[in-house]
Amino acid sequence: MEKENNNHKINYLRLSVTDRCNLRCMYCMPDEGIDFVPHSDVLSYEEMLHLVDVSVHAGIRKVRLTGGEPLVRKGFVDFLDELSSLEGLEEITLTTNGVLLTDFAADIRACGICRINISLDTLRPERFLQITRRDYFEKVIQGIQEAERVGFDPIKINVVAIRGFNEDEILDFARMTLDKPYHIRFIEYMPVGEHNSWSNEKFISTDEIKEKILEIGGLHPVLSNPFDGPAERFRLEGGKGEIGFIGALSNHFCESCNRLRLTSEGHLRGCLFSDSEIDVKGPLREGKADDYLIRLITRAIESKPKSPKGMSPEMRKCVRHMSSIGG
Ligand code: SAM
Ligand code: SF4
Repeated sequence: MEKENNNHKINYLRLSVTDRCNLRCMYCMPDEGIDFVPHSDVLSYEEMLHLVDVSVHAGIRKVRLTGGEPLVRKGFVDFLDELSSLEGLEEITLTTNGVLLTDFAADIRACGICRINISLDTLRPERFLQITRRDYFEKVIQGIQEAERVGFDPIKINVVAIRGFNEDEILDFARMTLDKPYHIRFIEYMPVGEHNSWSNEKFISTDEIKEKILEIGGLHPVLSNPFDGPAERFRLEGGKGEIGFIGALSNHFCESCNRLRLTSEGHLRGCLFSDSEIDVKGPLREGKADDYLIRLITRAIESKPKSPKGMSPEMRKCVRHMSSIGG
């Protein structure tokens, strides 16, 4: 049965399949000195399948696989194949940095996955190297092309907007939706992770991004679906694609947040901005019954904050790196 919090359904689980990654995005993880979760503490694929199955009984209908970078974990496609045959899940999606998509896009699509989010913050190779500390720009572009070739629809491109870094590319990304069926989603830069270099000066609000985009044309609202959660969706006049906004900091996020997060080490989080977690791996490994696990999941749902009132962006810091939570 779907559980409610704040009178809306919590039906969406973001599952971080690994905290490892082949990029080192400045806003997500440091270049060196990262304490990765020991392999024995990372949920096995079998454990993940079990927990997703149990989550379905607690009302979860959509799972997004994220990380770290999900495609760097060995056996990911086989896991996806098994996950896609679980009963009760209506949608499985994937967030990836795109680096390995030329290798895996066709196999992922063959598992019946149709929707994919690819993160790309700049269309300039030198800036890509600067933000990700890795020289894989071309691989990501080829990965996006491969995703299109094998039929992902829609292809969503996540762009974290950062002042002084890519604000001058906002219109280039928006214009892409005129010719391409891509959904460009602008994400507000969030102060997550100990080594995050977030500051008020680097923050650009969705309102400011929208205002900028109005220079090329009006934004026409697109009807959202029950899985959209906090994303606002629009289309430019005559555009083939869409433009979306995740105003994680500036908008009333809690009221529409339909997400639950499961970290790669098996901790449930009700909110990205709170470090409160419930360990489900421990009870799972102790052999606790599914009813017990369902109660833990329900507790995580009920613990989701009801409102962001009184929280300034500076206060909403969470200590874990984004790569270990999954965004
Ligand atoms: N590695 C995959 C990727 O980059 O798409 C999946 C994991 S990543 C943590 C998921 C999303 O979180 C990405 O779109 C990334 O841009 C976003 N993200 C990471 N750190 C962020 C931050 N500090 N503020 C806003 N978004 C962030
Ligand atoms: Fe890796 Fe994604 Fe974090 Fe970048 S945002 S370091 S690609 S997990």
